[in-house]
Amino acid sequence: MLIVLSGPSGVGKGTVRQAMVNKYGQQFKYSISMTTRKPRPGEVDGVDYYFVSKAEFEEEIANGGMLEYAQYVDNYYGTPLKYVNQTLESGQDVLLEIEVNGAMQVRSKVSDGVFIFLAPPDLHELQDRIVKRGTDDTATIKKRMLQARQEINLMTNYDYVVVNDQVDSAVNRIEQIIASEHLRVARV
Ligand code: 5GP
Repeated sequence: MLIVLSGPSGVGKGTVRQAMVNKYGQQFKYSISMTTRKPRPGEVDGVDYYFVSKAEFEEEIANGGMLEYAQYVDNYYGTPLKYVNQTLESGQDVLLEIEVNGAMQVRSKVSDGVFIFLAPPDLHELQDRIVKRGTDDTATIKKRMLQARQEINLMTNYDYVVVNDQVDSAVNRIEQIIASEHLRVARV
């Protein structure tokens, strides 16, 4: 099963994903994304992302190597197709943590994925989180907030909405969603 966790930047997708990995990471494989963004302090190539140049990323696109990709705040982000296919074929669940445009691309390609929208309790809190994270300058924060407002309108395209009020409870709700999806009767 392909599980797509998406939602606006700053909503806490990365934190929720990490908490999922810590709590029940043996039950799924997390797909590491490729990006042209520079690593933040502490980020490791091949763990947090595959950090590549714009030319390398565009070559992957041209070779049909991306399941989805998006340009987000001046950088490319995308999901390498090969890992996803191989892991699904081996019978394991794959988790993607991606922004909304990419999630919509996956939606149009994968009919039986589970699409979860992580929603902020409100937009002020979202801005607070982006500011407190301290990794973005004012212009970038403004861009991210504008993007977030547009992204929230896309919520109706998902199967589930989980409000990220508390990381633990968001993680528990996602765990329940995945468990129920595994019990779903296959539609033919
Ligand atoms: P950040 O720069 O904060 O790590 O990520 C910025 C945004 O890109 C986040 O919303 C994150 O979820 C999204 N993102 C990370 N990896 C991918 C990916 O492979 N594809 C897409 N479409 N978005 C991604």
